[in-house]
Amino acid sequence: PLSESDLVVFGDAAAGHDGVLSDASGSVVVKPCTATEIAFYESAAMHPAFAAYMPTYMGTLKLSSSGTVDETATAAAAAAASQPAGSATASGTASALSPDDPGPLRGKKLETGLSIVLENIASPFKKPNILDVKLGAQLWDDSASLQKRERLDKVAAETTSKSLGFRMAGMKVWQGAGEQKDPLVDATGYRVYNKFYGRKFSADSVIEGFREFLFVPAAGIDDDLGRTMVNILLKQVEGIQKVLEAEEIRMYSASILFVYEGDGEALRRALEEEKSRTSGTAQPDEGDRGGDDDEGEGDVAKAYAVKLIDFAHATWTPGLGSDENALQGVRSTAKILGDLARM
Ligand code: ADP
Ligand code: MN
Repeated sequence: PLSESDLVVFGDAAAGHDGVLSDASGSVVVKPCTATEIAFYESAAMHPAFAAYMPTYMGTLKLSSSGTVDETATAAAAAAASQPAGSATASGTASALSPDDPGPLRGKKLETGLSIVLENIASPFKKPNILDVKLGAQLWDDSASLQKRERLDKVAAETTSKSLGFRMAGMKVWQGAGEQKDPLVDATGYRVYNKFYGRKFSADSVIEGFREFLFVPAAGIDDDLGRTMVNILLKQVEGIQKVLEAEEIRMYSASILFVYEGDGEALRRALEEEKSRTSGTAQPDEGDRGGDDDEGEGDVAKAYAVKLIDFAHATWTPGLGSDENALQGVRSTAKILGDLARM
């Protein structure tokens, strides 16, 4: 069971709102959310092929407006993530996990007091490199105000969201253990790319962002290893494309979250272990072998995880056919990874 004192600021968010928390072990994320997102996670069990590309849903948690998350832990985690300590917006008393109680919803996302508890797909890695690719040229659903539609349409038109159906929404890439002169690299050796980084790309230049994510010589990820990862991630995106083509769903502003081991040496080891484990019997859909392998838990080094996340505006829509808005972004992402693999 999860308790209040376990919660710390989640240091591995690549994009999105403040207020994502984690537990002390880092195995889950606790994210303020809407009733729509919870309903979507709860109904995903009926769509197992799709659910294989979602983080495991562990329940909901109600944070009361009184009480605070342990200050020391919060400050430490915030410092490690090089975020201002004041950005820890989620405060409250965590009650026990209550999957059946949606709790009261009070207006805006970060004020609902309702959080979703999910498998942290950025765990366990030694140095996770993380990329959030936000899907869709249209980023709003029917419930959005005219003002919000116009704002999001403007961002889409100015970025690759419109032209490619996706944009890079945030990224963090480990730059190795060596001394860092780059002022953009934080104390933990990560270069953190905020939401404005991905907005500057055009349809032709966005491949450079993926290159920056996947080729990191200073961290031991050379051309060869980078290309190996590109091909692995491409397979995952093709898997996502396939399940999306088979579902009748509408999701606006959902993301593909890419995570892979950013420590080149650890990445090599994880890939080798995986190869010897699977020895011939390829299982392309199981990139993240966390602890559900038959080997002892924690023994299995993870090389990567690719999942769809952020279902605040996602619903199943029987009769409406496939989600071409999200699929445009998935197909473009596959195309760019394919181009990168051939370079
Ligand atoms: P929002 O964009 O509405 O704030 P998201 O669901 O996109 O919410 O979450 C924000 C960020 O938190 C994501 O960009 C991602 O980096 C991180 N995140 C969300 N869910 C998970 C998860 N299950 N595992 C790991 N990281 C996650
Ligand atoms: Mn998001």
